[in-house]
Amino acid sequence: AQEIGGTDKEVVRDYFNTTGFDRWKKIYGEATEGVNKVQLDIRIGHSKTVENAILMLKDGGPLAGVSVCDAGCGTGNLAIPLALEGAIVTANDISAAMVAEARQQAEEAIRGVEGVRMPEFEVKDLEELEGKYHTVVCLDVLIHYPQEKAEVMIAHLASLAEKRLLLSFAPKTTYYSLLKRLGELFPGPSKATRAYLHAESDVERALERLGWRVRKRGFISTQFYFAKLLEAVPAA
Ligand code: SAM
Repeated sequence: AQEIGGTDKEVVRDYFNTTGFDRWKKIYGEATEGVNKVQLDIRIGHSKTVENAILMLKDGGPLAGVSVCDAGCGTGNLAIPLALEGAIVTANDISAAMVAEARQQAEEAIRGVEGVRMPEFEVKDLEELEGKYHTVVCLDVLIHYPQEKAEVMIAHLASLAEKRLLLSFAPKTTYYSLLKRLGELFPGPSKATRAYLHAESDVERALERLGWRVRKRGFISTQFYFAKLLEAVPAA
């Protein structure tokens, strides 16, 4: 997996507007036709991450009326159920194709459901987001950025969050680093961006430097998908 040029961000944006959009729309969707075994496995893993994130969020109390920012919302897999729970959802993604898909899926799932407010979708780099939200969630986005860049992103996300921040990322452990290297030796046609693993301790340290502490942790793994899920809150 090599970077083809441009900054990480430009590469990621281009990818998720083109081949990455097709690949991930399929993985995150429900249809099984044309979805291979690996993609199905990743679908299951990712849906567990979304489920766990919703459980963590609900554990803190009902979501009705709670403002939530879903940073890097993809096709809306988290934003839509959160809106159905009554949360006031703002969702953004750097990819216009992803946002268009999320908006369409939300229209189908939410329009006509009484009392449910449509998420506000926007095409935006998460680092350009402004405002304050009770909760900020960012699932499976940090994998596209090296640790240094990820730390800048985490700092920005924390600055938007008043009460809590949920992050999921692919953990860097000896075993997963090895798996990743093996995967890179056999690049499939559908793999296009560089993937970065992050050590849980590095992410936690970055949060601590910002004055946040990890309150809950989750770990999700299937055969080809693995993610750490952290819920952080202001330390004081
Ligand atoms: N969070 C969604 C989910 O879990 O269903 C999507 C995860 S997908 C692997 C990663 C998403 O992050 C893509 O939709 C991509 O366009 C988006 N993304 C990557 N970098 C971003 C950035 N700097 N700002 C906003 N979105 C970004």
